[in-house]
Amino acid sequence: MTTNEKLAVPAPFLPTLPIVGSDARFPVRRIYCVGRNYVAHVREMGGDETRDFPLIFQKPADSVVHDGGVVPYPPKTDNFHYELELMVAMKSGGYNIPEAEALSHVFGYGICLDMTRRTVLDTPDSLRLPWELKKSFDHSAPCGPIFPVEQVGHPSSGSIRLEVDGVAKQDSDLGLMIWRTPEIISTLSRYFSLEPGDIIMTGTPDGVGPVAPGNVLVGSIETLGTLTVTIGEPAAVAA
Ligand code: MN
Repeated sequence: MTTNEKLAVPAPFLPTLPIVGSDARFPVRRIYCVGRNYVAHVREMGGDETRDFPLIFQKPADSVVHDGGVVPYPPKTDNFHYELELMVAMKSGGYNIPEAEALSHVFGYGICLDMTRRTVLDTPDSLRLPWELKKSFDHSAPCGPIFPVEQVGHPSSGSIRLEVDGVAKQDSDLGLMIWRTPEIISTLSRYFSLEPGDIIMTGTPDGVGPVAPGNVLVGSIETLGTLTVTIGEPAAVAA
């Protein structure tokens, strides 16, 4: 689209994330997510350890919530869960990226939450897939600031922790990821052309659980600071 094209409705807002140590912003193009990427979480969800293939889905870019923001309790669930995850931010990409080259396409890293309707109300029990209703809704992607690779390298181990109202709920280590960052990037690039501005949520460790309005979530990853959000009152939507 050229900047001078006449638009029939207002242009969508471009979500951006702050970059630590810079006054430039990181534009968010797409949010890719990997599920079932820590064995202990796979088991708590009733699954078996597997490396058959990573579970891949997307969230809309405009579901981003910034550090310090509010996540309204979403409609159509009574079981709204946090999932604390390592976020990878891409500066370049393309198709068919070899694992050995994958990290050269990374701009930086951060902390994110894959907020999840674990239960979706008023849908048939048989409607377990696709995951759009569980994963890809408004305000479902809180993301902290991005730490450039030049500052933090490529974190592949270290503490990943989430507290809810000061109580530890998730406490694991990035080294326990089943699919490592280069494998995730390489795998995604066989199906999608990765582009600058894409971010990847890399899966959550065990300890997921429900939240309620008023809860304060504080996620932390060693070297990547913290991400804090508050669960808000239900969004004003029709029942
Ligand atoms: Mn997740």
